[in-house]
Amino acid sequence: MDSHYLPEPYRIRVIEPVQRTTEREREQALMKAGYNPFLLESDDVFIDLLTDSGTGAVTQAMQSAMLRGDESYSGSRSYRTLSQAVKNIFGYNFTIPTHQGRGAEQLYVPALINKCERDKGLERNKMAAFSNYFFDTTQGHTQHNNCRVINVPLPEAFNTKIKADFKGNFDLKALAAGIEEVGAKNVPYIVSTITCNSAGGQPVSIGNLKAVYELAKSYDIPVVMDCARFAENAYFIKQREVGYSEWSIQEITREVFKYADIFAMSAKKDAMVPIGGLLAFKDDSFLDVQLECKTLCVLLEGFPTYGGLEGGAMERLAVGLYDGMEEDWLASRLQQVEYLVNGLEALGVRCQQAGGHAAFVDAGALLPNILPEQFPGHALSCELYKVAGIRGAEIGSLLLGCDPETGKQLPCPAELFRLAIPRATYTQAHLDYIIAAFKEVKKRASSIAGLKFTYEPKVLRHFNATFEPAL
Ligand SMILES: *Cc1c(COP(=O)(O)O)cnc(C)c1O
Repeated sequence: MDSHYLPEPYRIRVIEPVQRTTEREREQALMKAGYNPFLLESDDVFIDLLTDSGTGAVTQAMQSAMLRGDESYSGSRSYRTLSQAVKNIFGYNFTIPTHQGRGAEQLYVPALINKCERDKGLERNKMAAFSNYFFDTTQGHTQHNNCRVINVPLPEAFNTKIKADFKGNFDLKALAAGIEEVGAKNVPYIVSTITCNSAGGQPVSIGNLKAVYELAKSYDIPVVMDCARFAENAYFIKQREVGYSEWSIQEITREVFKYADIFAMSAKKDAMVPIGGLLAFKDDSFLDVQLECKTLCVLLEGFPTYGGLEGGAMERLAVGLYDGMEEDWLASRLQQVEYLVNGLEALGVRCQQAGGHAAFVDAGALLPNILPEQFPGHALSCELYKVAGIRGAEIGSLLLGCDPETGKQLPCPAELFRLAIPRATYTQAHLDYIIAAFKEVKKRASSIAGLKFTYEPKVLRHFNATFEPAL
């Protein structure tokens, strides 16, 4: 049979019931949560698209692997299983498990910045790290260590009108010019983020990663792969980059990871686990950094052969790394994102082109009457919840925040609203329901109000802020 559409390539064996609610009940729940969907009780949410991080289904093989856990405090057999899987898949020789992605960041970020200071006799306030786009916790850890961050995405990365195969790529000219301006010795590391989450889960090509790595080597700057969505990125490379259509996801993954020295992974994404992370080193060329990370791990995460994970969780992660690379699985997952984006665009709701893990709706285009300082993305978030019990997240002015010097709202390149798709959790019927909900929201668009703060926290304000409608 010839069918373009691949039905979900799995059977559902365990279900988690969810409650339906009325619009009246949702209005009250939203008011109680201070018009901040982050503060809702999960029982009041019908379809939860806040994040795809640790919220998806696991495979049978992952679940059964947990029973093999060796809970020895040191030298656990489960650690060996996990580090062997890392070696086989990525070709990296030394692994430290961590409780999640930011657990890896709190080890390598200070270690690489300390090395830069030690080897090159620098002052920290002169340093700057580069990325195609720093994930928010990666940025946070870098700044917390008194190093600046500089993003060098493509100029079109945030323009939802432009389509491109590898919209997550580095702007190589901007990277080279940036390194010259800051001075190569002042750059403690470059972070290649795959896929580029902040640009809408957009992929990065092997050609681009290779060019970044070669540039970095010419300046003696370490490269860290921030690789939560390594499998989705590999699938896009197979689909889109010339020369890789016959390669397996594993072969592409192996090739991609040649172009970094260290990787940090939130395993809650493509490795499909509810909790876990990895820090890994390709070889011994950064032995001093490895040793410092091990010491920091004892302090912050746990002994380096468990790093904040139980033995069973390390076994589950070792299997999840493989299961997350299944090609039919990836095809079906990315097809879900595309189906949602196409359905929304057919209604006239403009989106960032379909990326890896989420649909990014251009809320600024959908609600042009709402000023950026009254948060169109967040207003859309509240309205969608009221209409249908669907929860997503604002990625716009609210998330970006204020300039710490002037206290003024920073200008935001796009007012987006993100619907992240948890892995193997929702069906096509759910996606149709989401599209129907947008049809209703679009009808109401001209009467949707912006929001103003009733409480505004000083940092990371979007999590705990409360609002009221700005009428
Ligand atoms: C999720 C993520 C992180 C942080 O990982 P956590 O597991 O949430 O701590 C870092 N970088 C990228 C690219 C991510 O997607």
